Amino acid sequence: MEVQQVLHMNGGVGDTSYANNSVVQRTITTKEMHIVEDAILDLYCMSYPKKLSIVDLGCSSGPNTLFVISHIIDTIEMKCCQLNHLLPEVQMFLNDLPGNDFNTLFSYLPDFYEKLKEEKHVSLAQRLVAGVAVSFYGRLFPSKSLEFIHSSNSLHWLSQVPQGLQNEMGISLNKGNIYIAKTSPPSVFRAYLSQFQRDFYLFLKSRSEEVIGGGRMVLTVTGRGSLDPSECYSQWELMTQTLNDMVSRVEATSQYNHLNPPSFSSKYDQILTY
Ligand code: SAH
Repeated sequence: MEVQQVLHMNGGVGDTSYANNSVVQRTITTKEMHIVEDAILDLYCMSYPKKLSIVDLGCSSGPNTLFVISHIIDTIEMKCCQLNHLLPEVQMFLNDLPGNDFNTLFSYLPDFYEKLKEEKHVSLAQRLVAGVAVSFYGRLFPSKSLEFIHSSNSLHWLSQVPQGLQNEMGISLNKGNIYIAKTSPPSVFRAYLSQFQRDFYLFLKSRSEEVIGGGRMVLTVTGRGSLDPSECYSQWELMTQTLNDMVSRVEATSQYNHLNPPSFSSKYDQILTY
């Protein structure tokens, strides 16, 4: 099955939802907000456009998405207020894969619009939000139609499992791991690198065709602190151990009792949220 058809963060607003388990991503996004602000202001002051088309790529569903949108809108409005300009129309596109919980995301919008109207006297007609449910590894928008592109905490997701993780005999070269690990051989590092390069090239090529001349793009991508490819985040190691543990418990239990599958603690649920 294609990764892009099945990948999604945990939807809804329950204990194990992405909405309630994305504080780390929120902290990262908060830290980059001054860069987003500068880029938006630069863009606006270049030609004082009457309309702006903006996209958040890999928006997921939860408070982080609205945080980004509100921040962008606030920045433009503050500038317009200072300059005594009429507010431009803002078309805001929220993009993610088709499995994303767009229902929950869009259910937040009425309150969000209401707040905008109350606090800033901005009408709905000036702030249009639309969902775009397709992979960002390819074209999403007409040529030269976007002024501002934003993406945070999303580009580390590859479009597919890299080729080259098995030898010619079909034996896994990265057995027991879900990503590059301390025990992975160099061919596994190369397989991940080459998949990332292919994906990122396609991403940049597509965006370069969609953005207007002078448009801006802010991407936040997590990285490593050193050149050693096996120095990965402890969360991947933790997740690998947990998944292996779950598989072995399912295997052990199913040998004895097919009718009562094992139950897992909320710790496992929490981890699978990511
Ligand atoms: N930007 C949000 C969400 C990050 S979670 C934040 O900072 O909190 C990463 C999101 O990227 C997920 O919702 C996932 O579904 C999405 N994603 C991963 N690969 C994608 C792709 N190829 N196209 C569009 N969205 C993708």
